[in-house]
Amino acid sequence: MGKLSFCGDIKKELAEMKTRQCCKDALVYGYALFGRSFNAKRICLQTESEAVAYSYGNLLSGVYGVEVSVTRGGGKRPTYIAEVKSEADKLRILASVDFGIYDGSIYRDNFYRECCVQSFVRGAFLACGHLSDPDKDYRADFYIKDKRLAEEFSEILLEHMIESHTSKRGNTYSVYIKKNEMIVNLLAFMGAGGLSLQYLEASVVKSLSNKINRNNNCDSGNIGRTVEASLKQRKAIEFLKEHGRLDTLDGKLIYVAKLRMKYPDASLKELTSKSTEPITVSGLNHRLKKLIELYEELKN
Ligand SMILES: [Zn+2]
Repeated sequence: MGKLSFCGDIKKELAEMKTRQCCKDALVYGYALFGRSFNAKRICLQTESEAVAYSYGNLLSGVYGVEVSVTRGGGKRPTYIAEVKSEADKLRILASVDFGIYDGSIYRDNFYRECCVQSFVRGAFLACGHLSDPDKDYRADFYIKDKRLAEEFSEILLEHMIESHTSKRGNTYSVYIKKNEMIVNLLAFMGAGGLSLQYLEASVVKSLSNKINRNNNCDSGNIGRTVEASLKQRKAIEFLKEHGRLDTLDGKLIYVAKLRMKYPDASLKELTSKSTEPITVSGLNHRLKKLIELYEELKN
């Protein structure tokens, strides 16, 4: 098996967590509502995660005593399908769950305690969630087919300090979370202890390196401006020299012109430090501007 993505790692950790007795209904409920194939026709879950497929299978067989087959399909990106095949088993499950049919609302009686809500959100994430690699993007998505379900799910998240937004793409609604600290909240809420810390670390490293990049870009911007200004100054000085004007100027101007020609790449600040006579950056700037003015006068 190849290296898992961050999302794959998170799902594996969440899928393999121990589930309390009181949470089992809520977890199955999360899978059932968001996995979307939980009816008399089909009870199955399709997922890219092998761990998720097996833990879903174990959950169903543990709670309802049914047989669940897990098969692997797909090409380059494998998909796993956990499915209850026997008609009798399907009926047995549907007879014993209170939430057999989705009537448009999230049925909160399935949550006995706070831990059960956490398990429900975990089931939802395992069934329809996705998380970007924190070194690429900060984004968690729940892909949901029903608008009202998306809205109610978003409300439950908000009740637990997890802000989300909803967007529609094709026939699917995405309840998504973009803020880094909100994603950390979500991971912690679902119980991904170790990995939510890892996520936090990776995102802090990313935001730091973004900051460093911005600063570097800023520096190169300054360098660009320095080079451009120096070019303009040297062009003016060359022109004044060629037209015999440079030697007729005030000694202070001649001095600065020679200094600039000697150190073409230096910034103004660097030039002041090369100068043998004391001069400030603004004084230097003033004289170089004067040279450019004279050049422009002469050229016209
Ligand atoms: Zn519970």
